[in-house]
Amino acid sequence: ASHALLLVVVPLYAASLVRRINAAREAAEFDSRAKSQLLAKVSHELRTPLTGIVADAQLLEVEAVDAGTVNRARSIQRLATTLDSEIKQLLDLSKIAVHGGDSRLAPEPFSLAFTATQVVGSIRSIVGAKPLAVELDFDERIKLPVVGRHQELVSILTNLAGNAVKFTEQGAVTLQIALVETSEEGYRVRFAVSDTGIGIDPAYHEKIFQPFFQVESGPARRYGGTGLGISIASELVRRMGGRLQVDSKPGQGSTFFFELVLPVDASPAAETALAET
Ligand code: ADP
Repeated sequence: ASHALLLVVVPLYAASLVRRINAAREAAEFDSRAKSQLLAKVSHELRTPLTGIVADAQLLEVEAVDAGTVNRARSIQRLATTLDSEIKQLLDLSKIAVHGGDSRLAPEPFSLAFTATQVVGSIRSIVGAKPLAVELDFDERIKLPVVGRHQELVSILTNLAGNAVKFTEQGAVTLQIALVETSEEGYRVRFAVSDTGIGIDPAYHEKIFQPFFQVESGPARRYGGTGLGISIASELVRRMGGRLQVDSKPGQGSTFFFELVLPVDASPAAETALAET
């Protein structure tokens, strides 16, 4: 009789357990969706007035009659622009969470040499007057166009390069795009952004991938930022089928790297399209 009882009770219990797990999972999913939507809304509400602040500060700079006011007007513009780009990162993160990446961007053929040129250009503009060399190590064996989300790849690399520049006072920032192997699926390519900056203690190598985590926090912080860049970049890399990793030691610089398999587009049409860009 006790066996018969077990036969009834166990499946009932199992079914109720499955129901409870499912309910908890749905609640958690709803919760993260609601949080992301709130984040998106708040970020948007904050960005709109900032645009006005920057515009007014620009006017103030033009109309200013003394050097002190010019400097303050420029400082307002700089601070407001920084704040705006940090809010934009928040917005990007919430978009990733809400929409699961920008799936509206269809994969397209592009040349990795072009990607390299674009990223190096944007690194140069971030470097500004800092005494930093910008180096490109591009594998010339990569000759054919590949198919993927070019713009997202550029954002990932520019994001990593932005950190490389921020945390490096002197030396070089290097972008590497290397062919690892050619297979039936396409090129396996290694992307790496290296710097000769302050480096990261191994104790933090995992933590920096968490949203909002920064090695330096609190009022003594020397560097700006939101702590979101790497978590966003890492999520984007993951969606492309790769894994963002870090190799770094304090005082010896950092390398952020990942590998992607990118299908090769060998069609004549793609080659012609590329020749025209
Ligand atoms: P943010 O740069 O906005 O602080 P990230 O998510 O991009 O946020 O980076 C998180 C933290 O990881 C940074 O605050 C910094 O402590 C560390 N970090 C990231 N990139 C580098 C780098 N190239 N060199 C040294 N530290 C870095």
